[in-house]
Amino acid sequence: MTPTHSNADSPVAHNVGHWIDGQVIPVADIKTSPVFNPATGDIAACVSLATSEDVDRAVESAVRAFPAWSLTPPIRRARVLFKFLELLNRHRDELAAAITREHGKVTSDAQGEVTRGIEIVEFACGIPQLLKGDFTDQVSTGIDNWTLRQPLGVVAGVTPFNFPVMVPMWMFPVAIAAGNTFILKPSPLDPTPSIMLAQLLKEAGLPDGVFNVVQGDKAAVDALLEHPDVMALSFVGSTPVAHKIYIEGARQGKRVQALGGAKNHMVVMPDADMEQAADALIGAAFGSAGERCMALSVAVMVGDAAERILPILTQKTRALKVRNGTDPEAEMGPIISSAARERIAGYIAQGQSEGAKLLVDGREFTHASAGAGCDSGFWLGGTLFDQVTPEMSIYKEEIFGPVLGCLRVATLNEAVDLINAHEYGNGVCCYTRDGGTAREFARRIEVGMVGINVPLPVPMAWHGFGGWKKSLFGDIHIYGEEGVRFYTKQKSIMQRWPAGKRTGAEFSMPTAV
Ligand code: NAD
Repeated sequence: MTPTHSNADSPVAHNVGHWIDGQVIPVADIKTSPVFNPATGDIAACVSLATSEDVDRAVESAVRAFPAWSLTPPIRRARVLFKFLELLNRHRDELAAAITREHGKVTSDAQGEVTRGIEIVEFACGIPQLLKGDFTDQVSTGIDNWTLRQPLGVVAGVTPFNFPVMVPMWMFPVAIAAGNTFILKPSPLDPTPSIMLAQLLKEAGLPDGVFNVVQGDKAAVDALLEHPDVMALSFVGSTPVAHKIYIEGARQGKRVQALGGAKNHMVVMPDADMEQAADALIGAAFGSAGERCMALSVAVMVGDAAERILPILTQKTRALKVRNGTDPEAEMGPIISSAARERIAGYIAQGQSEGAKLLVDGREFTHASAGAGCDSGFWLGGTLFDQVTPEMSIYKEEIFGPVLGCLRVATLNEAVDLINAHEYGNGVCCYTRDGGTAREFARRIEVGMVGINVPLPVPMAWHGFGGWKKSLFGDIHIYGEEGVRFYTKQKSIMQRWPAGKRTGAEFSMPTAV
């Protein structure tokens, strides 16, 4: 796979253009942005930023491709996805390496991301079964009624930096399997995998124009929102942008699902296995440098759990192997950008000034321990706070970095009330050895995805993913059968055949005869 084209006049490794009508559109000089390798701080690539004219071209291509693709029998669309699946498995490591290069996450984590994306393709390969409608024989004498689901047309996906392969694959496999044509607007921070996916789809036999990529920023998203031929938009990113897109998309008459940010809690009950709970907290708080919408950022310690678990947590946070993601020993890589690093360091300072007790300070981490060539990378170690309170900004706001805050409460009821009062409701989990506690927690908690002794539970491809409250705007979750519903509209057909005897005009509401 050659994801991009090289530019002899440019000092950067490669350029990342758009993908329209089955080919890369070379980077134009007018609007571009550098793409960094966060581990080294080097410029890894240069990405185009789409103008509204670029978006128009992509939409035109998708509009042209829609009639033939939507008429293609679902089983034949599925065959293209089966071939895509085979290619994804073959190129899994290249995709993972591209993720690590531009995002920074450690290789094993990037490989896991690719696998979770592949699972959505496996699900979408079952589209003939998923599109099967309902049929009622004889709703009235000589009349049958059935429902079917048809694609919407051109649909778009806008995705965040933190999963440059998996999150686009939450969307497009289901959308195109259902017969839509798709435009992806990935994050400009790690754009290369989007073009690699486009190339694999083409190699799998996907007709040109069914899948397009416009690189870019807000301007590209605004152009997609305003375009009358874009029928639906799936968004995953931060809450302020998700909210804005949901409102604007609805104003434009589009179908919108907009997944936002998170502040995920883990409740540690006094009866939990403390070693196991500590491992869960460390992995989920610091994996991918805390840059996951399902990262754990708050530990709620019930009763005497804090005294027992904090020494273990402190030791494990200090022992984290924070290194270049290409190092097979690395447990956590760098932060995505210099700006994000500064934002997270600012939160650590604020937590201190608001009175939280800083047990481990990630700002003390030095480049030297990250590995050779990492002097100019965007590095922070893991940070651990105790004595966090609900009024503090480090509790209320999404930090989206490797910072874990611990709160103490007396009872399960207090823990549940605390979590239910938070404005985010993406993921949550409870560690306990008591079945009754687990059941009560799962039933009462106002969060979309719940783990019992599982930190944190990203649902499998056929279950669908989505948070509550400010973590999701819209009423349909992403992927799974919810995804099929989102990307299709239901049609109900009632038929009398042969036409039957003439009865003259009927002026009362028809009922079954
Ligand atoms: P972001 O909101 O900055 O960007 C997301 C996408 O929106 C990108 O493609 C970006 O180019 C575009 N964008 C940015 N500002 C925009 C604007 N003003 N108008 C229109 N488009 C805009 O998010 P990010 O920093 O890339 O990703 C991190 C965020 O995503 C975190 O808040 C995280 O919790 C969230 N996230 C949520 C989920 C979920 O499933 N709920 C999954 C992954 C990430």
